[in-house]
Amino acid sequence: LTNDQLDKWDRENFFHPSTHLAQHARGESPSRIVSGGSGVYIEDRDGNKMLDGFAGLYCVNVGYGRQEIAEAIAKQAKELSYYHAYVGHGTEASITLSKMVVDRAPANMSKVYFGLGGSDANETNIKLVWYYNNILGRPEKKKIISRWRGYHGSGLMTGSLTGLELFHKKFDLPLDKVVHTEAPYYFRRPDLDMSEKDFVDHCVRELEALIAKEGPDTIAAFIGEPILGTGGIVPPPEGYWAAIQEVLAKHDILLIADEVVTGFGRLGSMMGTTHYGINADIITIAKGLTSAYAPLSGSIIADKVWKVLEQGTDELGPIGHGWTYSAHPIGAAAGVANLNLIDSLDLVDNARVVGSYLNQSMHDALSTHANVGDVRGEGMLCAVEFVKQKDGRVFFDAGDKVGPQVAAALAKEGVIGRAMPQGDILGFAPPLCLDRAEADKIVDAARKAIVSVLG
Ligand code: PLP
Repeated sequence: LTNDQLDKWDRENFFHPSTHLAQHARGESPSRIVSGGSGVYIEDRDGNKMLDGFAGLYCVNVGYGRQEIAEAIAKQAKELSYYHAYVGHGTEASITLSKMVVDRAPANMSKVYFGLGGSDANETNIKLVWYYNNILGRPEKKKIISRWRGYHGSGLMTGSLTGLELFHKKFDLPLDKVVHTEAPYYFRRPDLDMSEKDFVDHCVRELEALIAKEGPDTIAAFIGEPILGTGGIVPPPEGYWAAIQEVLAKHDILLIADEVVTGFGRLGSMMGTTHYGINADIITIAKGLTSAYAPLSGSIIADKVWKVLEQGTDELGPIGHGWTYSAHPIGAAAGVANLNLIDSLDLVDNARVVGSYLNQSMHDALSTHANVGDVRGEGMLCAVEFVKQKDGRVFFDAGDKVGPQVAAALAKEGVIGRAMPQGDILGFAPPLCLDRAEADKIVDAARKAIVSVLG
């Protein structure tokens, strides 16, 4: 097929997610036919080779073109492409993967429920939390607290949990059982004079006030990413998680840690929960579980929750929750090969070492620029936030589209970064196998792109 033919069908027939539909129809948005990938690079059909500084959507953690995973997928497809996981059915791959996931999870967790993607895993989590409270005889304890700028998916419940307006507008969301609290975003603190400690106290007061307003007996769980991802790549201020967990424990509110981005190494620790000392009741995993070689997600359940769920099914029969593709054998085979590769290549440590080099180099190269307000990150996550004016922190308007402009200039330098939805943040989340020379290339391209757009 020619590129022209594909381009025509693309415009006529392909409904692209997360796309400005009107712009796309007018041919104004970029159109790229991606044809190959190797290591940290992707190639398109126009012959461009780009360093993928965002690992797809922070998911191709082991890098592109890993034959070990491709072969594991092919072997599984030939032996048994599919069988369901209902009522005690499993495959060698799905059972092995459950053991491998639990071995990498915190010690108080011993069960994993497999889904397809991060959104459906979070839907599962909310149903499990409701089921848990129903079994405990407190059906009124159902509300979920999420944070503004949190990202947890784009389904009806998960889009409600997501604290970004774009995901609510014109969809009649959020649903009424979801309430949002302050994002732990120190750079955007309400008062510039607040110390980090003051700001954590402020987040705690906001949470306490919300709980008091809604009533602690109506609140089932709090959901949060260890580090805000799509909401701007924002590491939590020092002491934030300890302080939040104290409040949740006081009101018997479960904690769901959404590790779709952080799970399996991105922060330079196997799990983001251990990285920040978070003691979760449920952990969401997806992207890094298979490095996106096949769709697979999971909900890892703490023993405390599991013991209650088990009691319920004695009374009710089978749990009324299952996907046709739960624990799909091909996803599971990809997951086993992927986790083995992460270990054998020591990618968690590489994310720590090279991630810290990337963050430091980005900081050194850009933090003195007049329009760079903040350079931040953790492990293999890094963000540059632009400001109109540094003094007094004057922000760009959404309409200025600084992030998209810089991302487009960056692409011209042969590097992919992501303009985060807020509009004035450029994000990086490269594959965990990035080396120092590739980190240098990202930083150099970012500097040139920023200078070309902002001077
Ligand atoms: N949770 C987090 C933290 C995410 O970043 C994402 C996706 O980016 C999701 C959930 C949703 O995952 P999916 O797009 O696979 O449904």
